[in-house]
Amino acid sequence: MSTVAAPKKERKYFKTKLFLGLFAVIFIGDIAINDDWDTQLDKFRPNISDEERAKRPKVVILGTGWGALSVIRKMRADQFDVTVVSPRNYFLFTPLLPSTCAGAIDTRCIIEPIRDFCARANASSVKFFEAECTNIDSANNKIKCKRNSQNYYREISKKGIDEFELEYDYLVVACGTESATFGIPGVREHALFMKEAPDGKRLRGRIIDSLESANMPTGQKDLDRLLNFVVVGGGPTGVECAAELHDFVKQEVSQFFPHLKAKINITLIEAQSNVLSMFSKSLVDYTEEKFRRSAIDVKTRTLVTGVDDKDVTVKSLDTGELSKIPYGTLLWASGVASRPFVKDLMKKIGKENGQTSPRALVVDEKCRVKGSDNIFAIGDCAFMGLPPTAQVAGQQGKYLGRLLRNGGELMYQGKKSGNDEAFTNYLDDATAFGYNHMGAFAYLGDNSAIADFTNKNEDSKFGKSAGVGTYILWRSVYFTKLLSFRNRVLVTMNWGFTEIFGRDTSRR
Ligand code: FAD
Ligand code: NAD
Repeated sequence: MSTVAAPKKERKYFKTKLFLGLFAVIFIGDIAINDDWDTQLDKFRPNISDEERAKRPKVVILGTGWGALSVIRKMRADQFDVTVVSPRNYFLFTPLLPSTCAGAIDTRCIIEPIRDFCARANASSVKFFEAECTNIDSANNKIKCKRNSQNYYREISKKGIDEFELEYDYLVVACGTESATFGIPGVREHALFMKEAPDGKRLRGRIIDSLESANMPTGQKDLDRLLNFVVVGGGPTGVECAAELHDFVKQEVSQFFPHLKAKINITLIEAQSNVLSMFSKSLVDYTEEKFRRSAIDVKTRTLVTGVDDKDVTVKSLDTGELSKIPYGTLLWASGVASRPFVKDLMKKIGKENGQTSPRALVVDEKCRVKGSDNIFAIGDCAFMGLPPTAQVAGQQGKYLGRLLRNGGELMYQGKKSGNDEAFTNYLDDATAFGYNHMGAFAYLGDNSAIADFTNKNEDSKFGKSAGVGTYILWRSVYFTKLLSFRNRVLVTMNWGFTEIFGRDTSRR
């Protein structure tokens, strides 16, 4: 009897040990990959009391995106009196946003409630206001905020607008950018964008609407227009959305609208000579060849000059000829531009004080806004000569969070004494921000992707890859970068669900 029981027991222990070991490796690996040791250790530190915190420097953070969230997670928020202001009360994992546009994954999987992170930052009293900043009064250390409420405040103000002011000792501007339209007529009125969480759902709704309309007996008259999906901008957003559309047409349209499939066109319009200008030439060639095989019509050296409700007007940059392209669905992905209140701050500080870039707030290598003593800017709204990517924003956010954490006590002493010289000296002497490029990915459809770890170094023999293997790497990297265990489970389930059952074609 005992000779049989012992190996069984051992096997059970072995399995338990294996499971625990695997869990520990994943847990530790995850912390290491995401550079999060300090955030974990912080959880065991006693917090400063609420009463004490109220006397601390007022730090206002604008935004809940890549930059802002990284600051909140690293700054040891209970050292300060922190207020976060953003029109959305969640963080959006933008790299997977294009996957929502044809329903490969659900938007729910890629958003994180910001209040979870306010609590995790060891300061349950990090205040959050769901509002947008409309003005920064840097002379008086105040910001103006506005909330468009659909409910309660309609009773107080007839327009449903709630406005308030907040004072700050230090301000962190991490409000990102908006979609650039370059003032091209008709774009704001007729095009769809791919920047915020609801955009994926809107685009999906429009695609389904076009297909259902084309399927009507009356749709026949307008078939060519309805079934032309036009994407403007051959940057990674435009390319990834075109690829997702291609997958949707190949799989779901073939199955549910087989009579329409042959009439569908996907047109990608790009003003420059090639798409994906931030990738190495060999990967650009690979992408253009892949799109040719996928029957995605790539029109390069073609500039969109106008949009109406049915056509986009384009100008050939080779011949100067103008022509019209009819569309049923138009996605605008021509890059990003500063928000109006950020432009206003740039103007108020002025070129003479360092705001020399038309693109964003010029900052020094410590993320301080040039021409200001107490405003920091990070991410897409800051200009440091780096591209507007999540990688840059996340790394700048971590850097600034740690800078504030380590200088928190000096900042507090400065506030108490009314002399912030020690904190300023600390910032002057601090190590400058250094960007660590971890590579760029783009999904190309048909389970294939490209990856460039060389930063456009064409001579490099390594660090560029394409194909199905890269697609698996693309998924693995984004999986590890998702912030919560919950979203990792949700995304994995959505990927599996789509592989097995296909995308949902209902209009929701
Ligand atoms: P955001 O993440 O945009 O956050 C800005 C925050 O400010 C938001 O919370 C917003 O609600 C808030 N805000 C807006 N207006 C106001 C206001 N008036 N007052 C206060 N708060 C305000 N980069 C990569 O590196 N890899 C990728 O794979 C990748 N994929 C992308 C895919 C798509 C579809 C898009 C659109 C972008 C992608 N990017 C990617 C770029 C990346 O998302 C941005 O560079 C990154 O989000 C910038 O971070 P941020 O913190 O500056 O701004
Ligand atoms: P982008 O600036 O990278 O590309 C926009 C493209 O639109 C440009 O190539 C531009 O020449 C073209 N364009 C502009 N106006 C036009 C017009 N009137 N007619 C025709 N073409 C026009 O913009 P994006 O793709 O939205 O990306 C924004 C930022 O986010 C970039 O920094 C990008 O690297 C980053 N991003 C990265 C990823 C990724 O790494 N997978 C995905 C999406 C976005």
